[in-house]
Amino acid sequence: MANEPAIRIEYDLDADDRIAAIRGDWYSFAVANGAPGLTTDSVIGHVLWSFVEGLDVRSVYRMLVENVRSTGRSKRLRFDCDDHENVRRFDLNIHLGDKGTVQFESTLIETTRRPSVPLFEPAIARSDDAILTVCSVCKLVDVQGVWLAVEEALARLNLMSNPVMPQVSHGLCPSCFETMSASLG
Ligand SMILES: [Zn+2]
Repeated sequence: MANEPAIRIEYDLDADDRIAAIRGDWYSFAVANGAPGLTTDSVIGHVLWSFVEGLDVRSVYRMLVENVRSTGRSKRLRFDCDDHENVRRFDLNIHLGDKGTVQFESTLIETTRRPSVPLFEPAIARSDDAILTVCSVCKLVDVQGVWLAVEEALARLNLMSNPVMPQVSHGLCPSCFETMSASLG
């Protein structure tokens, strides 16, 4: 259940997809997630896509932004932004703002504590040659084409108590890809 104060992060994209303004809890959330380098100053003026990991994730979000621009209709979706001991569900609303901007409004709607997941621990040792793909939206993990909850994936791969974890890359599972593509219609 929710056990953190409400977190709301808002930012505006200009006509060239550059981050034009940030409001809300951006910086405190970046610090809490081990990314203190993402200060407002280091982000403003940069193209949003340079901060989005995963080619298919970028392309779907770009299509969403283009769709909002061309139709004027807002888009609403859910995504997870987890760390190793919390599942955090966000509600994202993408809509037209003032002066041709597109606004992203993310609100934390639920935080669930869980036993620490080694794959998501920032300080853990990483293998050079093993990579696991994690869905950017729902955080399921791709195990040879089957998308599993992270705990199940690590158990399946006999990695749960392994001192070395694979590297993580980001993608979209088929179900989230379908949901996001459908929302473009
Ligand atoms: Zn997914």
